[in-house]
Amino acid sequence: AVFDRIDAVEEKVKAYVTLTRERAFARAQEIDRKIAAGEAIPPLAGIPVAIKDNICTRGIRTTCSSKMLYNFVPPYNATVVEKLEAAGTVMVGKTNMDEFAMGSSTENSGFFATANPWDPERVPGGSSGGSAAAVAAGEAITAIGSDTGGSIRQPAAFCGVIGLKPTYGAVSRYGLVAFASSLDQIGPFTRDVTDCALMLNAISGHDPLDSTSAPGDVPDFTSCLKDDVKGLKIGVPREYIGEGIDPAVKEVVGQALKLLASLGAEIEETTLPHSRYALPAYYLIATAEASSNLARYDGVRYGYRAEDARDVVDMFMKTRSRGFGPEVKRRIMLGTYALSAGYYDAYYLKALKVRTLIKQDFDRAFEKFDVLLAPTTPTPAFKRGEKMDDPLQMYMSDICTLAVNLAGIPGISIPAGFVNGLPVGMQLIGKPFDEGTLLRVAYTFE
Ligand code: GLN
Repeated sequence: AVFDRIDAVEEKVKAYVTLTRERAFARAQEIDRKIAAGEAIPPLAGIPVAIKDNICTRGIRTTCSSKMLYNFVPPYNATVVEKLEAAGTVMVGKTNMDEFAMGSSTENSGFFATANPWDPERVPGGSSGGSAAAVAAGEAITAIGSDTGGSIRQPAAFCGVIGLKPTYGAVSRYGLVAFASSLDQIGPFTRDVTDCALMLNAISGHDPLDSTSAPGDVPDFTSCLKDDVKGLKIGVPREYIGEGIDPAVKEVVGQALKLLASLGAEIEETTLPHSRYALPAYYLIATAEASSNLARYDGVRYGYRAEDARDVVDMFMKTRSRGFGPEVKRRIMLGTYALSAGYYDAYYLKALKVRTLIKQDFDRAFEKFDVLLAPTTPTPAFKRGEKMDDPLQMYMSDICTLAVNLAGIPGISIPAGFVNGLPVGMQLIGKPFDEGTLLRVAYTFE
């Protein structure tokens, strides 16, 4: 049914870079055989899943939607891919994204743009826009994305689906092509909260192959799905409902708060005073890490290589000049500058200090509250092309999601309503490793 749907709408949506149809049918038949033979089947047996194209899949092209990696076929699977296979899911294909996950609209893909299934004139968000659009359009039942500054939650909000960024370290990053290693985290897109809990069960857990992966047991997240928020303390940070947030978005979030209050949640305004520094701190730290992570694309080890070079330095230069798109180049230049002698203390080190202050804001808020609630994005999905000439405007569309990555805490975006026929997302932010409470609150809205 998912492939029938792909045949019907993919031409318009363009969610996928690669489809793995034959492989998917072969795996589905394998599961059918097991069922027919009366064998036990794993919990997500046969569930079609789409994987963002920055997550390594053995024998299947993994491009990061970059010309630099247009022909890169990984010899190994990311840990999440291994875990999803073990859980029985069937991979449908690899989804389109902003090149190397840098962007908020999927328009920075080195190949083509993806449409928002609700309105093809609008962006699906980014950078995991292909994954969000695939789930929203019924071209997959669930999908996997990565979130460095909002890249799961923002497209989930724009496409009217659920998107969860787990606590840093909760899900292994082994096999995720690194953008900003201290911020990157893998998470699921789903249509409902139960599926989100099931996916989180499948992908979480310690991995010796990722040194930042957290030790400890993983709970069964479906046990958190109690229809009960009575007595729960929910904080609404005033910095997230102030200037720059579309009043219509505030109205939708306000309605959700009323519902939670009527169910017995205790709601109070609170403050995260360093919020306004999240964007500059993020764009210094993320670009610094990216400039270092992307140094490996030199034409020697992976993907594209310029063939017409005079010598090795010329080969590096031609390969990188042609292989990377404009946004990736901008980030490499910004990051290199921020890390360079004389500027390191003024920019990079300062940004790290601000990061600590932002983390402390959350620590303080969570002394009092169980969950924080805010819009996921300042506006619903914007028009294609609208922000492409203005990088700062594009960066601003992540203003509500960036701080969560800087603090390493979990955040989920759930559909909260509509403005002019476009979905609006609401974000729940939790304590480290308390995804369970986020799912519990989210479940109230089903
Ligand atoms: N839009 C943000 C950026 O461009 C976040 C991207 C992401 O989370 N991968 O950096």
